Amino acid sequence: MAKQLLQQCLDCNAWSLSTTCPSCGKTAQAAAPLKWSPEDHRAELRRKM
Ligand SMILES: [Zn+2]
Repeated sequence: MAKQLLQQCLDCNAWSLSTTCPSCGKTAQAAAPLKWSPEDHRAELRRKM
């Protein structure tokens, strides 16, 4: 269940797995949560089917 949360640097938009940007050393924040996940989408389709 545990997902690796990707963090994105607010400054240079580099992706990182930690909250510190590897390229500029500034703060990286968790990427905005997707409005839907592929799993959810499939589940909805399954329901309609
Ligand atoms: Zn950065």
